[in-house]
Amino acid sequence: MKILLVEDSYIERRKLASYLTDWGFDHVAVGSGTEAVKLLESDNPPDLALLDWLLPGLDGIDVLRRIRKVSPENYIYTVMLTAKTHKRDRMTAMEAGADDYLSKPIDPAELRSRIMVGKRILELQQSLRFAATHDFLTNLLNRSEILAALDREFSRAGRENKPTTVILADIDHFKRVNDTLGHAAGDEVLKEVARRLKLDLRPYDMVGRYGGEEFLIILPGCNLTAGARRADGIRHLIEKDPINTPFGCTSATVSMGVTATNSSRDRSVAEFLQEADISLYEAKNKGRNRVEIFSGDAKSAGAGQI
Ligand code: GH3
Ligand code: MG
Ligand code: MG
Ligand code: MG
Repeated sequence: MKILLVEDSYIERRKLASYLTDWGFDHVAVGSGTEAVKLLESDNPPDLALLDWLLPGLDGIDVLRRIRKVSPENYIYTVMLTAKTHKRDRMTAMEAGADDYLSKPIDPAELRSRIMVGKRILELQQSLRFAATHDFLTNLLNRSEILAALDREFSRAGRENKPTTVILADIDHFKRVNDTLGHAAGDEVLKEVARRLKLDLRPYDMVGRYGGEEFLIILPGCNLTAGARRADGIRHLIEKDPINTPFGCTSATVSMGVTATNSSRDRSVAEFLQEADISLYEAKNKGRNRVEIFSGDAKSAGAGQI
């Protein structure tokens, strides 16, 4: 959790910042509303803001309104710090978006406990967010989230004229695992395959559970040739070792269809997914446990083996 402290009095700012250091909180301290807004609207905003009310330029209330108006992806918990003590002032702060309010002079023990309340709420919010965006069984991104990521990557690739590779992977003969070892063993295999799918990914790559035993992998900045090579590496990681489950030992292989954005061919996300699907189908037809790339040849609409 990163804390932003906004306080124009140098002495007060130093004092509060030293408490935060003593308590082991990662924090940044600034002396004006303008500097605060810059940080709050940056790519890496703080999670919790301690805001002085009276500040030169933008005051604490202005900063609060800005925070609530931009509503970044993650909620920013805000605590107003001020000498104003009227009930009316507290209400103004709450209406502008403050979550909590602390009167000056600040009592360190009280400040610490209010920060801990904020931390608890932020953690709850994060766990709810994780549950809403991830698949319960495999912990991978869920279907709607990986599709949203694909939409974003697709527009970015177009804007920046960079390639993006998409891999559609499907476990081979997965029904047999369920039929021979049972559904619970099938679940264990899904979890292990999901874990192996992530082994070779870079921090900016994404993988999601697209359907029952189907997965979608997005490799930003990766062209078709490199993407197909990466896909084959992942395929190998999955087939390499047996999978032990409490219900017996088994193994898994995947078939993969690979396609990539291409500046010379404009198509929609749906068409793009369909290309990956066509190639996946081809990989299944040609014997499974293999990677097929979409040839990009509109006439044959076929796939090529890597
Ligand atoms: P193919 O190689 O052609 O892909 O064969 P397959 O058996 O993998 O494909 P099919 O579509 O016939 O079967 C997929 C199976 O995946 C059927 C379904 O019961 C199973 N499945 C889907 N989701 C889950 C799950 O969450 N847990 C378990 N255990 N099985 C699942
Ligand atoms: Mg002040
Ligand atoms: Mg399937
Ligand atoms: Mg399958």
